[in-house]
Amino acid sequence: MSRRNFLKTSALGVGGLLLAKCTSAINKKTINPEITAITPITKPIVISTWNHGLAANKAAWEILEKDGTALDAVEAGVRVTESDANNRSVGLGGNPDREGKVTLDACIMNHENECGAVAFIQDIEHPISVARKVMEETPHVMLVGKGAYDFAISKGFEHKDLLTPEAKESWLKWKESDAQKKPEINSENHDTIGMLAMDAEGNISGSCTTSGWAYKLHGRVGDSPIIGAGLFVDNEVGGACATGMGEAVIRIAGSATVVELMRQGKSPNEACQLAVERIIKKHKDIKGLQVGFLAINKNGEVGGYSVYAGFNYAQKDNTTEEMKDAPYEMEW
Ligand code: ASP
Repeated sequence: MSRRNFLKTSALGVGGLLLAKCTSAINKKTINPEITAITPITKPIVISTWNHGLAANKAAWEILEKDGTALDAVEAGVRVTESDANNRSVGLGGNPDREGKVTLDACIMNHENECGAVAFIQDIEHPISVARKVMEETPHVMLVGKGAYDFAISKGFEHKDLLTPEAKESWLKWKESDAQKKPEINSENHDTIGMLAMDAEGNISGSCTTSGWAYKLHGRVGDSPIIGAGLFVDNEVGGACATGMGEAVIRIAGSATVVELMRQGKSPNEACQLAVERIIKKHKDIKGLQVGFLAINKNGEVGGYSVYAGFNYAQKDNTTEEMKDAPYEMEW
């Protein structure tokens, strides 16, 4: 081989090698190139827990369809539920704790892993908006109790008594009937709204807001304001939120677990199912312990799963506006 030919061949070889290296680097980054290539991403899209999700999604959709951000959408969406006095597990009209106080938990998370939360806040109608202010206007993630209330007032939120006459009446009845009974999560008292949205840019945000477990101990905080438990978003992967017995969700870092399972390649449905199975495995007594997870991935694919039958969620995108029943592990 002449020196000139040798140099030419070597150069091609190096070029070929470089090309092979680049290709493998690209392949490594793409979790499943075949699926991402053929599956059109569903966006914008919004999903949220339970029947009240339909009205909340509508408000979120008004923002998403005008190319608004997922963050604005998830805040506006759950504010509808917070103001609904007929809803007994979120915001105004929410069931009080055993001392007759309505104490609220909420959190919000955006596509840059920024997050804010309030817990055990009273007399403020929109804890989700206070949570957003914590995220955007303080160096902190969570404010609780009187500190959260004072912060809200300083930001212009109004004091409002959230205990409606109907909720008060039910609480008084509960006290009379069996004041010492163990608080229970059942189909009447678990109604947290968790919402996840992907906007036209493909960015995901989530929100979660609740009055929590009806007639809980005064001071109790559930999973809903805890980032990683009631809600978690990682824009590279997807988002998840939870409803049901908060203590059980916290024990397995529920929503973060669902997102991490999706990162490992599980579909939203599979990830929610595996998290539910972990809850079942980690509890000696699963009787009556309801938890539901809801998730979305970067392709706009959606899934949910619950311990017991009955968990449903609302979905809204360009072609769909409906309630979906989540698959579950067992009948009641
Ligand atoms: N997860 C909420 C809590 O434990 C209640 C619920 O969603 O049912 O406070």
